[in-house]
Amino acid sequence: MPADCLFCKIIAGEIPGNKAAETDKILAFHDIAPQAPVHVLVIHKQHTPGVADTTDNAIFGDLLGGVRDTAKQLGLSDYRVVLNNGAEAGQSVFHMHAHILGGRPLKWPPG
Ligand code: 5GP
Ligand code: ZN
Repeated sequence: MPADCLFCKIIAGEIPGNKAAETDKILAFHDIAPQAPVHVLVIHKQHTPGVADTTDNAIFGDLLGGVRDTAKQLGLSDYRVVLNNGAEAGQSVFHMHAHILGGRPLKWPPG
């Protein structure tokens, strides 16, 4: 794990995360600055900086399976899944994560 990775520190319990769901492969926790009534981040426990860096497609299956299961546990039927890849696209934490946004109507296109 990279020593300076915020999300690896949350996985390790070095920084508190408001946990929503967890499996052996996935951790889901509530975003510290929610952009919707429900705003949860789903991460893989294996560090990967971003979508473009992923070489093992199983990571995506684990991640999206985690999104599906977490949303179900939260009672969400309608929600948006966002993966920002790269700084210009809005990525600020370089440990790949899926945002689950729900609990209000969401406009399209995003900004
Ligand atoms: P990104 O901008 O990389 O797509 O998403 C990073 C997300 O992580 C942002 O929505 C931001 O609010 C959230 N975040 C940043 N630092 C923390 C933290 O320490 N704890 C939690 N729970 N979320 C964080
Ligand atoms: Zn990490």
